[in-house]
Amino acid sequence: MNHKGGVGKTTTTLEVGTLLTRAGRRVLLVDLDPQSTLTLAAGYPPAQTAQLPTVYEVLRDGIDPATAVLPTPHGPSLLPAKIAMSQADLVLNAAFKREYLLRDALGKLSGYDHVFVDCSPSLGLLTINALAAADRVLVPCQTQFYALTGLLQLLETVALVRERLNPGLAGPMILPTMLDRRVRHDREAEAKIRELYPDLVLQETIPATSRVRDAQLGHQPVASFDPSHPAAAAYRRVAEVLDAA
Ligand code: ADP
Ligand code: MG
Repeated sequence: MNHKGGVGKTTTTLEVGTLLTRAGRRVLLVDLDPQSTLTLAAGYPPAQTAQLPTVYEVLRDGIDPATAVLPTPHGPSLLPAKIAMSQADLVLNAAFKREYLLRDALGKLSGYDHVFVDCSPSLGLLTINALAAADRVLVPCQTQFYALTGLLQLLETVALVRERLNPGLAGPMILPTMLDRRVRHDREAEAKIRELYPDLVLQETIPATSRVRDAQLGHQPVASFDPSHPAAAAYRRVAEVLDAA
């Protein structure tokens, strides 16, 4: 999660999910963003998911999540999203135990080693559901000084969810993304993030590269598109960290 958009949340979910599937893990990706970017990247366009049961029906109507899970070409299974989920905050507001809808739904599934939930860029009810269901939080964070302003609020929200809703929630991990080491601003911002949150920032960083965009245009993770690229190698190491966590 990160309530900033365009920081690499969806890319990270897809890359890590694909790599862990390749490593023999059984992985479920949950698209909890009404914009449905992960669902689209996994091969299901909005016109198709509009007709399908998705995570929205799972949360709203209590349908069995297993009936909404789809296969994807790169391996991980997908619990898709649909655009109509943009009304979720209104529609789910009156639900009983509204913060635990996702946790209770995922509890009905079995057979997965890892479940990755891709959040929307907001701190609304859907994201609170993700935090209430999670064992840990990965925060992709761009190496830009402006990215630091929202980080404190985000970490406070995580702490609040731990206190009130999910005592088992582990400390967040911050993953610096889109780092261009040639640019001084990026290097200084990375150093600042590490200085502020020495215990939370992962050793690994994801380089900024157009290869990620090229891969996504071809509906592939960079891990498949260009396996020897430094971005693919970086995501492999992040996947190893998460697998061991
Ligand atoms: P979010 O889910 O946080 O909104 P995305 O993962 O969708 O962010 O990434 C936003 C945009 O940045 C996408 O166009 C994606 O292709 C691009 N992108 C993601 N990771 C990188 C990277 N390491 N280098 C360059 N572009 C990237
Ligand atoms: Mg996204």
